[in-house]
Amino acid sequence: MQLNYNQFDKYTMNAFPAKIMEEAFVPDEIIGPFFEELRKNVIRYLPICLHLQAKADALVDGQKRTVDEVTAFTLKLCQDLGPDFYNFAIPVCSEGKYLQIEKVELGKSEGSCWNDSMELKVDGSLRDTIYHAHETGHWLSGMEEGVSNARINIKELQSFFLEEMAYEELQNQGGDIAIAAQFFRSARYLQFIRMIPDSLYALAWNKGNENRATIFNDWKISNPTDYEEEFVEKPWFATNLHHSMHRHLFAAPLSVALYQAYKSANEDQQQQMLKTLYKVGSKTTLKDILNVFGIHTVAQLQNAARFAVGSITGGFEPSTVPAYRPEVC
Ligand SMILES: [Zn+2]
Repeated sequence: MQLNYNQFDKYTMNAFPAKIMEEAFVPDEIIGPFFEELRKNVIRYLPICLHLQAKADALVDGQKRTVDEVTAFTLKLCQDLGPDFYNFAIPVCSEGKYLQIEKVELGKSEGSCWNDSMELKVDGSLRDTIYHAHETGHWLSGMEEGVSNARINIKELQSFFLEEMAYEELQNQGGDIAIAAQFFRSARYLQFIRMIPDSLYALAWNKGNENRATIFNDWKISNPTDYEEEFVEKPWFATNLHHSMHRHLFAAPLSVALYQAYKSANEDQQQQMLKTLYKVGSKTTLKDILNVFGIHTVAQLQNAARFAVGSITGGFEPSTVPAYRPEVC
């Protein structure tokens, strides 16, 4: 089928104004080496992805949670970050003024976050805990100047950082909860990584970006699903897929490494990290965040990607988790 770029562009511009699209992109020199290192390390785990997802779903379904428990859990994470985080989070996390909660059937839970509101669809399982923490992480990036001022690729780092804290807290609780959390995390993050080839396909599809897509040319894990018909029928789908590469698909694995760097840092360094990550002003760049978490060079970025894959898959082959010693400035 002949692709109609003009039609695509019209839809793209409607969905995301050009300037926002551009600002939301992770620069090639960051996303290129990071994805390439992910690819090399993750490739042998991708075939187990769907199996893992089924197992994770069954485990989290059995872990029931009430909305009050979910809220208290997230507030505890915020308390661990500091009193200002906790105070900011109280009205944000609790149902009412900003947060709307809707009950849905098992397996259909999800979260959404906008500049002035947050919506959580809860299914009463452990998923609610993860999604509530994730969405609250988005809000915390607005502590200084308001959520709407932070660029999209930066905002996702805050949500996955808090999500990483949630997984760790659940692991610390031990027993079935810890196992469910571990499987859920591995399945969720591997699914994100698995979507990268599809996103690249959407990127190549976008007018003017054919060359840009070739920087990822080696990523030939699978032939992406044949999306062309869907793209033509629903052009916003290609945009969303393309866009997600710069958001969840990038931020989830990177946040694994950032959280590890945070845990290895001393108290002063931790404060600096939290300040840069969460009190993000309109001038804060992705590089500012990477630098304060000890990522200054391509080698350190690649190291972060290797660590992320090792951590995500570590529960299945513990011996393959590589040592990760971030250098914190
Ligand atoms: Zn998010």
